[in-house]
Amino acid sequence: MSRAYDLVVIGAGSGGLEAGWNAAALHKKKVAVIDVQKTHGPPYFAALGGTCVNVGCVPKKLMVTGAGYMDTIRESAGFGWELDRDSVKPNWHTLIAAKNKAVLDINHSYEGMFADTEGLSFHQGFGAIADRNTVVVRQSEDPQSAVLETLDTDYILIATGSWPQRLGVPGDELCITSNEAFYLEEAPKNPLCVGGGYISVEFAGIFNAYKPRGGQVNLVYRKEVILRGFDLEVRKQLTEQLRANGIQIRTGDNPAKITKNADGTKHVVFESGVEADYDQVMLAIGRVPRSHTLQLDKVGVEVAKGGAVKVDKYSKTNIDNIYAIGDVTNRLMLTPVAINEGGAFVETVFGHNPTATDHAKVACAVFSIPPIGTCGYIEEDAAKKYDQVAVYESSFTPLLHNVSGSTYKKFMIRIVTNHADGEVLGVHMLGDSAPEIIQSVGICMKMGAKISDFYSTIGVHPTSAEELCSMRTPAYFYEKGHRVEKIGSNL
Ligand code: FAD
Ligand code: NDP
Repeated sequence: MSRAYDLVVIGAGSGGLEAGWNAAALHKKKVAVIDVQKTHGPPYFAALGGTCVNVGCVPKKLMVTGAGYMDTIRESAGFGWELDRDSVKPNWHTLIAAKNKAVLDINHSYEGMFADTEGLSFHQGFGAIADRNTVVVRQSEDPQSAVLETLDTDYILIATGSWPQRLGVPGDELCITSNEAFYLEEAPKNPLCVGGGYISVEFAGIFNAYKPRGGQVNLVYRKEVILRGFDLEVRKQLTEQLRANGIQIRTGDNPAKITKNADGTKHVVFESGVEADYDQVMLAIGRVPRSHTLQLDKVGVEVAKGGAVKVDKYSKTNIDNIYAIGDVTNRLMLTPVAINEGGAFVETVFGHNPTATDHAKVACAVFSIPPIGTCGYIEEDAAKKYDQVAVYESSFTPLLHNVSGSTYKKFMIRIVTNHADGEVLGVHMLGDSAPEIIQSVGICMKMGAKISDFYSTIGVHPTSAEELCSMRTPAYFYEKGHRVEKIGSNL
């Protein structure tokens, strides 16, 4: 039986757009893509391009770039730039307006993609699954809301992304999340960023640069060292540099209760009993898969605790013609991963060539100030998997900072190898350009590079990255899971 569509994609974010375009343009399929609206604007979180374009990677990177000028301006004095410090000040409104325009331009380019691609159509509203071959487009997330369209399809792709998690303490509703942080009318003067993950440290850097004079940016993390899951030495070094940049970091604590003061500021009582006032409290405590309004139970699509749609390595759910990709599956919540999964899904289903996304050795970055670039295993995880692991480390002050005066800005590179054959299992970097450098390192690692390939390569001088080519001697090892100074000392 011929259906109206070959594929209906719910969600026009990173993964959904890749899959929709590939299916229509490369395989000449009839594809409907559903999302809440075309261009960004209230309710802000959603539009063509999804989280990454509207309230994620793209606006964040622009704002971090803007924030980076704070140090550049200060450091330029050492290089002979004479600036009147009092006349140099950040303008949050200019930043937000420029960012909004850049986002709108991308929304429009995607509108153009729909107009130009035969077989690809956009359907505005909230998608929900009615049966295995039927998707309804509703006016709102409410399952009782009006049905705008009913789409009959061979395949369904769930690509609805994720949503900020809430703290669940009294006064939670007084807090913002990154969704709102992108549209604040004024730069906060005294914000509290809650969480020690990507979003909290990235926004701490943004707020720190754009805060009005006399402001103080604060971050609270419930455990000891921020950015759990990243290289421990990099995490500690980043903490030092964030503090040196004026960000106050409180660890081992968490908000227990939030109330509103008469002047609109928020009063936070922490679990430790400490109390303080902030003009904004931003929750950045993880994101949860956004599957709850899709009515997946109607067709029995299996969902894990927490809402992640369960899939196999080809992104297929337990229902043969229903697939899911991107954040909603809670594998790696990163844009290039969602895109790769979207491409692999189309190749598998319409290219008849089973293709699975490889989630190993994925390079990624934290756009903190300074940023982190990382790829592959941290040493503790490598030591669980390999009998002998070697760790190489290098930490130095880049030459320019002897002139800029920012001598606290150390560049750090740490390499983890399988000592048996020298295969590079992990590279972790902290410092300017680390996100750019790690991309090329990631390619080498995918090709199976060994540490000898790194040190037999001639470096580019004078750069920080050349240090990757001169690390010959391990600093220490792991043997059968235990840290040792020399191989053999644990036997
Ligand atoms: P999304 O891009 O979130 O798209 C999902 C779409 O589905 C949305 O447009 C939503 O409106 C729509 N939708 C949801 N429910 C429905 C429904 N019922 N009907 C119709 N439409 C629906 N990743 C990086 O790689 N690098 C970064 O620097 C980076 N920075 C980030 C910064 C922030 C602040 C955040 C929040 C995320 C960041 N990410 C970054 C993560 C990245 O944005 C996500 O991993 C990526 O967007 C996931 O793509 P996706 O296709 O799964 O979902
Ligand atoms: P993360 O998972 O990075 O960090 C969440 C943080 O919140 C952790 O420090 C976690 O602590 C803490 N936390 C979790 N639950 C609670 C709680 N109940 N109370 C207090 N703290 C809590 O999440 P983000 O929200 O920062 O980002 C979501 C995802 O988006 C990221 O995981 C990443 O995949 C993606 N992203 C990617 C970016 C990039 O590529 N540059 C940038 C921004 C987002 P603990 O360590 O104890 O678990």
